[in-house]
Amino acid sequence: MDLNLTREETAFRDELRAWLAGNVPKDWSSWREKPLAESFPYLRAWQRNLHEGGWVAVSWPKEYGGRGATLMQQAIFWEEMARVEAPPMANALGLGLIGPTIIAYGTQAQKKRFIPKILSAEEIWCQGFSEPNAGSDLASLQMEARLDGDHYVVNGQKVWTSYGWVGDWCELVVRTDQEAAKHKGLTVLLVDMKSRGVEVRPLRQMTGESEFNELFFRDVRVPAENVLGKVNDGWNVAVSTLMYERGSYGARLHLIFKRNIDRLIQIARVTPRDGSTAAGNPLIRQKLAQYFAEIEIMRLNQLRAFSHITATGVPGPEGSIQKIFWSELNQRVQQLAQEIMGPYGQLLATDPHAIDKGAWSYGYLRTRGNTIEAGTSEVQRNIIGHFVLGLPRSY
Ligand SMILES: Cc1cc2nc3c(=O)[nH]c(=O)nc-3n(C[C@H](O)[C@H](O)[C@H](O)COP(=O)(O)OP(=O)(O)OC[C@H]3O[C@@H](n4cnc5c(N)ncnc54)[C@H](O)[C@@H]3O)c2cc1C
Repeated sequence: MDLNLTREETAFRDELRAWLAGNVPKDWSSWREKPLAESFPYLRAWQRNLHEGGWVAVSWPKEYGGRGATLMQQAIFWEEMARVEAPPMANALGLGLIGPTIIAYGTQAQKKRFIPKILSAEEIWCQGFSEPNAGSDLASLQMEARLDGDHYVVNGQKVWTSYGWVGDWCELVVRTDQEAAKHKGLTVLLVDMKSRGVEVRPLRQMTGESEFNELFFRDVRVPAENVLGKVNDGWNVAVSTLMYERGSYGARLHLIFKRNIDRLIQIARVTPRDGSTAAGNPLIRQKLAQYFAEIEIMRLNQLRAFSHITATGVPGPEGSIQKIFWSELNQRVQQLAQEIMGPYGQLLATDPHAIDKGAWSYGYLRTRGNTIEAGTSEVQRNIIGHFVLGLPRSY
């Protein structure tokens, strides 16, 4: 593939650069260290501003509020956002996974009702898939919904729901047919999180944050018109959401990883080690060079995935390759940071001696979840084995 920018891509980049130069908030650095719960209104306001400028969900079709940008332009978008260290957008799941699923499966009324408020961050979305006994084996989920007139009545529990604490709406997978085979009796409902009977309980992580939650549903009434896709076809709808999830993150992550490795190289150059610096240690030097190269591989793989999506219109199981690659690489880089910094790497933001205001201790702990969220590494390997390599199924 040709990696040079076309004339249109250069024009797109220049227009975006000009807009960002006039609009990226100058005070983000003072907000980024704060807990997400505190900075969330700030991120919401930033997304609204981006939306008003026409820069949210650039690759979505124009009729749904996007720019109809190509995937290459989307990659340019993330690159430029990273270059100026712009804040992230508040409605990450709405924009990355749930909005695209509503565009693919929603009725006209659903698209009209939900899409504009996803773009403007007026309504934040969460993803209610996992349950205590259904994570990797999602199709075993038990949360049930029974039709009662023109409503479904929902009962059961979800767990690990990111953004549950701030979610206005939830893409919820429920069992609507108890008799059917487990993949066949599922349906996706779009649920107002303020409905009577929804309880959200935060879960505390080892980072100290409560990024995700348990959800309890007790006789929650959901209008039947909020079924996304067809009744009992929820498995296909949910798998589409997961493919968007696995395929989309790599695009922006390689830029963050690149920034991390550049910073780590700087730190290694000044950290004393055995009469020299950490950078003088051959093992550390080898690892830094290896991960630097792997981040470049990640960028190129993402471009290859974009090329595939452009040709076929949908993300494929290849997203699993990216997911394994970035999540395991991120853990290796954070592990190396700990090897370079020694005990200093473990200091928290509150400690005046912490390097980069505790970002490395936070990063080390948070990246442990990378190989679990959006499907574990083992599950991604099963998908690649079966759907990409044509090997026998794992189950
Ligand atoms: C940071 C984070 C955010 C998350 N956000 C959300 C969210 O917003 N919404 C949501 O619904 N869920 C969310 N999750 C949940 C996540 O999707 C599940 O944790 C994940 O799917 C694994 O399920 P589980 O935890 O039940 O583990 P299990 O499925 O019980 O797996 C336990 C172990 O067994 C292995 N294993 C399981 N099955 C197989 C198999 N067939 N072959 C080989 N090995 C196997 C797994 O790889 C794992 O090591 C989040 C998780 C994390 C860590």
